Amino acid sequence: MSRVLVIGCGGVANVAIRKCCMLPEVFTELCIASRTKSKCDALAAELKDKTTTKITTAQVNADSVEELCALIKSYKPDLVMNIALPYQDLTIMEACLQCKVNYMDTANYEPEDTDDPEWRKVYDKRCKEQGFSAYFDYSWQWAYRKRFEEAGLTALLGCGFDPGVTQAYCAYAKKHEFDEIDTIDILDCNGGDHGYAFATNFNPEVNLREVSAPGSYWEDGHWVEIPAMSIKREYKFDQVGDKDMYLLHHEEIESLAQNIPEVKRIRFFMTFGQSYLTHMKCLENVGMLSTTPINFEGHEIVPIKFLKALLPDPASLGPRTHGKTNIGCIFTGRKDGKEKTYYIYNVCDHQECYREVASQAISYTTGVPAMCGALMMLTGKWTTPGVHTVEEFDPDPFLAALDQYGLPKSESHDPALVP
Ligand code: NDP
Repeated sequence: MSRVLVIGCGGVANVAIRKCCMLPEVFTELCIASRTKSKCDALAAELKDKTTTKITTAQVNADSVEELCALIKSYKPDLVMNIALPYQDLTIMEACLQCKVNYMDTANYEPEDTDDPEWRKVYDKRCKEQGFSAYFDYSWQWAYRKRFEEAGLTALLGCGFDPGVTQAYCAYAKKHEFDEIDTIDILDCNGGDHGYAFATNFNPEVNLREVSAPGSYWEDGHWVEIPAMSIKREYKFDQVGDKDMYLLHHEEIESLAQNIPEVKRIRFFMTFGQSYLTHMKCLENVGMLSTTPINFEGHEIVPIKFLKALLPDPASLGPRTHGKTNIGCIFTGRKDGKEKTYYIYNVCDHQECYREVASQAISYTTGVPAMCGALMMLTGKWTTPGVHTVEEFDPDPFLAALDQYGLPKSESHDPALVP
């Protein structure tokens, strides 16, 4: 029996909400609140006769702590699921603290306005000290650790697939397969084809910022940064086939380096097709990925926001995307004094996801772990007070829930390694 407030009603939230409604015995009441209330109302109307979960909707501007607090105080949820954008992480965490309610999200904080001088000061210092230049990092949310701990509240960060399930895979490898892990390669392959020359599978602004940034990896206790897309490897993915993949910076590397301190190297690779890369480079070269506002015929526009308006809505890709995703982690290390390797991954089919929840696999592989993370928190399995990433909790009940609710794991004890 629980009341959950979901903030955001985009691609990922749509999947998470539909999955929550398949477990009405846990998710007894849900409030869907977002900037555009009509989207929440449409989803609530669609689900009305399909679930016994009692659904209500609300309008909220999640950039405003005041508005969030008013909503939380009136709805009185047991948990707030932040499935809006990373820009809202801090305001929603702040509101949860003020109203004494547990929190979770699917991506770590980054500011909407990267030209904000106050934020820039902190960012420039961090770039110099840490050695990676991504706009996002955990420091902003880890700064809330003490306050959540003292309030006896839990904040679960980054509970999608990557970050999220990939960290549970690391915790699982550490618990069951290795005494010591030497290297972790996280491989994110999307073998899906939506038929467009260029489209992004989740929020274009967040996606293009991430992909066009310099890559980096963790090695021997420090970050190594490289120019964007400058390390390329080929890999043969189970049920997908041969793909080109590129080394990217990714948020879970930062927490894994702290929580599995013996690891000597952590890398993250994502597959991209040539058409995607050519379009992205061109858009970057002409300034369309910029977040700095420009004046156009008397109107102020932000180029990347304008681009977002032109691109297909990721939520519309479901019916036209065919193929599979394959996301997982390859480990090297030792067990009982013997060298060993291990690969744990999930394969997910775009069309099967569409048939089940009217979405493509990228939103599905994020929304299902969000639901399963909420399930862990609401059923008393992941309740340690403080601000935590997924690898800090027991992976077993979470992976069992993923097996049951649509993202079963596959394993290999003799995987091909990435050079
Ligand atoms: P969408 O853009 O599809 O949805 C975002 C939703 O948030 C929209 O409903 C939007 O409202 C709402 N929103 C935005 N700003 C506000 C605001 N100020 N107040 C209230 N609501 C707001 O994004 P996705 O569903 O693709 O992504 C959701 C999250 O999941 C993102 O944080 C993304 O980074 C993360 N993600 C994580 C992954 C993982 O594996 N961990 C993978 C993919 C995504 P409106 O409809 O009005 O625009």
